[in-house]
Amino acid sequence: MDVEQLLAAMRAANAALTVPKLQQRVNLSRGKIEKILKFLLLESPAPIQKTTAGYVLNPVRWQMPVERIERITNLRRQEQERMKVYMSSRDCLMQFLAAELNDPHAAPCGKCVNCTGALLSEGYPADLAQAATAFLNRIENPIQPRKMWPAGLPDPEMRGKIAPEHQTLEGRALCRWGDPGLGALVRRGKQHDHRFDDQLVEAAAGLIRNGWKPGPTPGWLTCVPSRRHQTLVPDFARRLAVRLRLPFVECIRKLRDTGPQKTRANGFQQAQSVAGAFIVDRARVRPEALLLIDDMVDSRWTFTVLTVLLRKAGSGPIYPFALADSSSQDGDV
Ligand SMILES: [Zn+2]
Repeated sequence: MDVEQLLAAMRAANAALTVPKLQQRVNLSRGKIEKILKFLLLESPAPIQKTTAGYVLNPVRWQMPVERIERITNLRRQEQERMKVYMSSRDCLMQFLAAELNDPHAAPCGKCVNCTGALLSEGYPADLAQAATAFLNRIENPIQPRKMWPAGLPDPEMRGKIAPEHQTLEGRALCRWGDPGLGALVRRGKQHDHRFDDQLVEAAAGLIRNGWKPGPTPGWLTCVPSRRHQTLVPDFARRLAVRLRLPFVECIRKLRDTGPQKTRANGFQQAQSVAGAFIVDRARVRPEALLLIDDMVDSRWTFTVLTVLLRKAGSGPIYPFALADSSSQDGDV
């Protein structure tokens, strides 16, 4: 249970903890941690309090208010039941809603599906669908550089601000994970074909050459290695390099499997999992600007950590490029 986990971490620390410090101790998102703290602060008597140094435990006996939670849950279940009745109702839907809200004048509306007996058509013209897909494929998906390390990483060089020369330049994702069109092709390549379609190579090359046009122009290309899918990304990167007439140079090795970043709930947990997971073969690194290719971008910590390693090994400035952006975009790290 998340609340218990957080309280256990506070008990174990036996000192005031800030939210960033809590993020180091529990694998919960920042948003979740803040929600739990708010919940606990509103309890009476509250099991925690906020001090200038951070959150501390209060010397009170506190238990999860199980009964109160159950009462509220039951209320929500009853509301859910009413929604089900609404969905299968054959009476006027507007009248149903008005009656639920205690409107004494609830009367048939004459407009809803039950009043008129007809649903809107589910059909749509093919050219409109094509135009929508083309629109989605044209949307820019920038990958912004990360500028700060999360607090508490063990490596003393991963503290505070990331030096500007060690940050990535602004990169691009070809599409959003889950989109139709290109997004569907990425999904098929990753989950079904285990190879990314040539259409994705064409679309990526087109975006880089004609839409994005990064400057200084990249002089070489490499990719993020994976221990779980050893050929998927290198095979794509190699074809893209041929298409862009850039040398493809494999120069990064992954030392251990880091697992999907999706399972890491906050910035500290994500950065911690990739720190120390890679080594760069210095002898192969080139001084020109670099296109660094991966299939997915989520927390951006893989690109961030690799950029530091590659820059220290002598690479020129680095543009991250991913086939799909799967981040939730709620900034909840
Ligand atoms: Zn009606």
